[in-house]
Amino acid sequence: MTDFCPSDQYSFARLLTDAERAALLRLRAVLDEHVRPVLSDHWERGEFPEAIIDPLVQLDLMRPAEVLAAGEKVRGLFDGFRNFELARVDASVVTFYNAQSGLFRTAVNLGGSPEQVAELDPLIASYAYKGVFALTEPEHGSDIAGGLDTRATFVPGTDGGHWVINGAKRWIGGAAQADVLAVFARDTADSKVKCFLVPTDAPGLTMSKIERKTSLRIMQNADIELKDVSVPASARLANINSFADVAACLRNMRSDVAWIAAGTAAGAYEAALKYVTERQQFGKPLASFQLIQEKLATMLTNVTASLAMVVSLTQAQDEGIYKDENSAMAKMFTARMLRQTAALAREVCGGNGIVLDYDVARFHADAEAIYSYEGTDEINALILGRAITGIGAFR
Ligand SMILES: Cc1cc2nc3c(=O)[nH]c(=O)nc-3n(C[C@H](O)[C@H](O)[C@H](O)COP(=O)(O)OP(=O)(O)OC[C@H]3O[C@@H](n4cnc5c(N)ncnc54)[C@H](O)[C@@H]3O)c2cc1C
Repeated sequence: MTDFCPSDQYSFARLLTDAERAALLRLRAVLDEHVRPVLSDHWERGEFPEAIIDPLVQLDLMRPAEVLAAGEKVRGLFDGFRNFELARVDASVVTFYNAQSGLFRTAVNLGGSPEQVAELDPLIASYAYKGVFALTEPEHGSDIAGGLDTRATFVPGTDGGHWVINGAKRWIGGAAQADVLAVFARDTADSKVKCFLVPTDAPGLTMSKIERKTSLRIMQNADIELKDVSVPASARLANINSFADVAACLRNMRSDVAWIAAGTAAGAYEAALKYVTERQQFGKPLASFQLIQEKLATMLTNVTASLAMVVSLTQAQDEGIYKDENSAMAKMFTARMLRQTAALAREVCGGNGIVLDYDVARFHADAEAIYSYEGTDEINALILGRAITGIGAFR
């Protein structure tokens, strides 16, 4: 199949197997039926449509039935296209899904002991155990590696001991719907960053919704406070022993977000294309004017270049080639392409480009959050710059 979607100009979807494409079409049907119709109202109210969670979870897309029945592995390429397909519809919905399938699952799978992974991964894949990723703090965003202030102190005991955690986290996506937060804290004994699975109802943990956002209004983000929160020794992810281990997680997560940026750009382009095809001025469709066509050409080229980059990156990762700078490059580039594409999409819709009814306004506003999360443009450029020169410029 080469015409998977109007944004896939180079037919990258041909790289998927029949089973992978079938699973994605199942996702598309649920998005069309349950998700698209509720987006504008929830965006305006700044609320998450809880009713979409069940249909999405029931698709079981972290272990798609078609792919497993065909005897195939669930590839990174499938996960990437899954994020692309979700993002083409809505940036908040994909960010919500990816909090579980990308951020939390990656933290557990890379950070957990073999026993922790064996126990938790099936529960995470089925959404029976919902978690999110709590790294950023009110006073530390870009400089979190050195700045992380949340503290964890081990208290020995006959029951194996427990950890006491104090600190604050900011921007934590999906926290209100989660069972646990993967909280990163500095061990007061050795100053190393470690990770703890903290139940959201733990005594001493409070969370409040971040209000008045102008981007990703459907996705809910929380400020978290942790005051003498106690978790058992078993709640620590055994293989996260320093920030280098956190960076290994971020490397994977940035690739997931690069797919999200590519998909959001595709959604903006497709909504704009529909609009200029239908809207008439001077007695002709907007799409017939040369200056509009040039903008459509730029948008589609941006999406195609973004897809080319994420497909290549993920193919390399599927072969076991992971580099911090490669995923930083992809996040930086695709987010830049998204920002430009969403602005052009909004532009060709004129006044209706700022009205939620035509979808473009939502993509345009949401592009700003994607531009900043999972490493800002500057921080990803500096990670790449460090790899190019061998000189770290951000310390
Ligand atoms: C919608 C949304 C969802 C998020 N979800 C999560 C989540 O689920 N979990 C989580 O842990 N975090 C999450 N984050 C946090 C996100 O990762 C941070 O916002 C991001 O790392 C940037 O940190 P900051 O906002 O504090 O900006 P700052 O670090 O304060 O940066 C402000 C500006 O200064 C620039 N800057 C900083 N340092 C330098 C430097 N050395 N040189 C040049 N420029 C520099 C930055 O690039 C940026 O442009 C989310 C953020 C948003 C907006």
